[in-house]
Amino acid sequence: MRLDEEEQSSNVEDRRGSRVSPVLATGGIGTLALVLIGLFFGIDPSVLLQGNPSVDTNAPTGYSQRADSNDQMKEFVARVLGSTERTWGEIFARNGRTYQPPKLVLFSGGIQSACGFAQTAAGPFYCPEDYKVYIDLDFYRELRDRFHAPGDFAQAYVIAHEVGHHVQNQLGVMRTIQQRQRRSSQAQGNALSVRVELQADCLAGVWAHSANEQRKILEEGDVEEGLNAAAQIGDDRIQKRTQGYVVPESFTHGSATQRAQWFRKGISTGDLSQCDTFARDSVL
Ligand SMILES: [Zn+2]
Repeated sequence: MRLDEEEQSSNVEDRRGSRVSPVLATGGIGTLALVLIGLFFGIDPSVLLQGNPSVDTNAPTGYSQRADSNDQMKEFVARVLGSTERTWGEIFARNGRTYQPPKLVLFSGGIQSACGFAQTAAGPFYCPEDYKVYIDLDFYRELRDRFHAPGDFAQAYVIAHEVGHHVQNQLGVMRTIQQRQRRSSQAQGNALSVRVELQADCLAGVWAHSANEQRKILEEGDVEEGLNAAAQIGDDRIQKRTQGYVVPESFTHGSATQRAQWFRKGISTGDLSQCDTFARDSVL
């Protein structure tokens, strides 16, 4: 990726190394929202929602030794976020709306969000209650080593996906779907969740297309990196890896094929209207 023309966002909150006082998630709308849309992965949301009083963020995390590379990563994240702000600001303006950018919180170990307490293991997430994206940069190591998705563009895609949830929140998609999910069975709710996630993948692609069109951010191999990352975090691949078998009804984020397909749709067209994952039969 080439990010030298992208401004660093001023919306990064660095809360790495700060002490958190985990509070048991008490349920309610914030918790529900997080279960529905927060996670980047199709993992069990209870991992994210459980209170964990034993977390000690002062415990060595290896952060101090990696402060330099982490600060480079912080700059990278700030540039990607800045790029999404510029792109979504323009797209919203073209449609007569104003884009209110999200904050992005860097944390280490665990974090208290308006949606509940989250640990690194849960992966990056977006909390619609406080309009913030949360990421522990250690996750990128996981992405490379455990999820076999190396590369800077794969890392940027992660942020763009979470920002995609923020765009959905701003457009009111989230509220509508949450209302529908409250009236749905578990299986129907999961199916709606898949559509929300695939749309966020498509929106991530729209950002990449638009930013590249204007400022040539993509280098050779970047698109493949993004497609690979989207596929590697497909529910089927993760289930196969973690439990050895695949249960499609339990998917909450979409299969490898679906995720790569919707990301591709966004990045090849740059057209928001191509991201209607809620149209009948659109994700089949
Ligand atoms: Zn997501």
